[in-house]
Amino acid sequence: MCGIIAYLGTRPAKEVLLAGLAKLEYRGYDSAGLCFSDKNGLLSFKAVGPVKNLVKTIEGNDKYSLGIAHTRWATHGEPSEINAHPHFDCQHKIAIVHNGIIENHNALKEMLIKEGHKFVSATDSEVIAHLIEKFDEGNLESAFIKAINLLQGSFAVVAIQAGSRRLLATRRSSPLIIGVGKEEFFIASDVPAVLAYTNQVIYLQDNDFVSIDDSGYKIKTLAGKEIKRELEGVQMNLEEIEKGGFKHFMLKEIMEQPITLAQTIAGRVVNDKIKISLQIIPGSFDRIVMAACGTSWHSALIGKYLIEEIAGVRVEVDYASEFRYRQPLISSRDIFLAISQSGETADTLAALREAKAGGAQTAALVNIVGSTLAREVDSGIYLHAGPEIGVASTKAFSSQIAGLLIFALYLRQLSGASLDKGLLMELKNLPKAVEAVLAGADKIASLAQQFKKTNNFLFLGRGLNFPVALEGALKLKEISYIHAEGYPAAEIKHGPIALIDEDMPVLFIATKNLLSDKILSNMAEVKARQGKIIAVVDRDFQDIAALADHLLVVPSVHPLLAPIINNIPLQLLAYYIADARGLDVDRPRNLAKSVTVE
Ligand code: GLU
Repeated sequence: MCGIIAYLGTRPAKEVLLAGLAKLEYRGYDSAGLCFSDKNGLLSFKAVGPVKNLVKTIEGNDKYSLGIAHTRWATHGEPSEINAHPHFDCQHKIAIVHNGIIENHNALKEMLIKEGHKFVSATDSEVIAHLIEKFDEGNLESAFIKAINLLQGSFAVVAIQAGSRRLLATRRSSPLIIGVGKEEFFIASDVPAVLAYTNQVIYLQDNDFVSIDDSGYKIKTLAGKEIKRELEGVQMNLEEIEKGGFKHFMLKEIMEQPITLAQTIAGRVVNDKIKISLQIIPGSFDRIVMAACGTSWHSALIGKYLIEEIAGVRVEVDYASEFRYRQPLISSRDIFLAISQSGETADTLAALREAKAGGAQTAALVNIVGSTLAREVDSGIYLHAGPEIGVASTKAFSSQIAGLLIFALYLRQLSGASLDKGLLMELKNLPKAVEAVLAGADKIASLAQQFKKTNNFLFLGRGLNFPVALEGALKLKEISYIHAEGYPAAEIKHGPIALIDEDMPVLFIATKNLLSDKILSNMAEVKARQGKIIAVVDRDFQDIAALADHLLVVPSVHPLLAPIINNIPLQLLAYYIADARGLDVDRPRNLAKSVTVE
């Protein structure tokens, strides 16, 4: 995820591009850059850090009226000046900005290097500029289209060429809009970037190709057929737009999970093989030790189930805050896996340093590229879930589970065992199943109304659904301030069952797995004590329907993917209950997004 803004018109491009970038910073902010163009050539500026660092590098330069700019959320290559966009071809005649991930960049880069192209950055994006150069025989449009047709993955791209007053752009699974003013045109990742200048916008669709010059814009298919897209007047205010029209960032982030999960999986399951760049030597380890905090600790617990079942490798999971102080027994035959959305969690970093001191091989599962955690481990897996702004983690949790599943499959592959093709296929189709769950959001919103006044909640699950129960309870606690606990369902008879009466809602995660029948007995125990039962189910649920007061039906998926699917109704329930209680969902009291203190 990142922000793109491009301008062609009569004002100083500098003013438009910098103001646009500032409005897009919510999409990414590890580095920024821009490039102006006039008849004399291209002139670019880049800076690491937020847009204000870029502003400082550009004195004057008000004469340009065409340019492209980018605020980056690194996916490939650390945040650095070299890796900041725009990227260029060998001759420095073509400049591009890109949002998304080019899945086949390695193959394309190899081909281009063989043909003599020299690359300067570690990004996936740079191949686009070199491809355009490769195909350029004097017609920029046709070179651009040929280049785009070779790309796999997700992208929004804008390109310019030295000496030409033209903007070229396209998109596939990444947003891009055109802003239309009087004798001026804008291209941007999102409407806020152009709203100060025009409210007339076109929402581009996948595979639209746009060419803009001073006389106007043309939209075509990549096959060259002209198409019409509606020019729409935008009525929303700025804050509403940044939240994608959703009331809160948390809801936006829940709803974007089909895309963010697709990004986590992209390029990592290729021809029924797992492709990740972990540096682990087969046979060099006996055990995986994971440490994490909060929601990430719950994904680590799910990871334990996944890795032990799929790869047959022993796993231990610790709270990072406990691990760091309890003199853990660590050796060079351990792989220490740290999990953190931000990569800056103080306890997790301390645990990592402890494990390193003990001689462990280290790896991380982290969202923020170039974070301290990412820099300190031997190698890792990025989530590519984009910036998570709501304090309660949602999309990062789902991506962590997907990342752990990929890690488990990778460990199995290392051992030489074959992978379950059905599971790989379902993993690729996971975003579709997530869409189906999200389509039921309204039902969960009305259910939330019935439970908004409750003081307590129990979440119960078995097997892989037990950590999901823990996460469901945590999510409800942190944003609605309702006391909630998660338990393995069979454990309630050892204590919590004493809490159950007609005022206690109990949410069972009861999708099909080896323990499905057993969970029915646990449900009957709750029913016998008048507890109110909500059940998340995925199957012929006649037997459960007889016991449950409310059913939340999710699509039936491979049991190893179920934690991702089953957690989504719980995210929605927590969100809608907190909202119904009138609380500040994105900024819950006493909490911070990234816990950088002990
Ligand atoms: N994959 C590109 C990079 O790492 C673009 C990332 C983005 O969308 O910000 O530079």
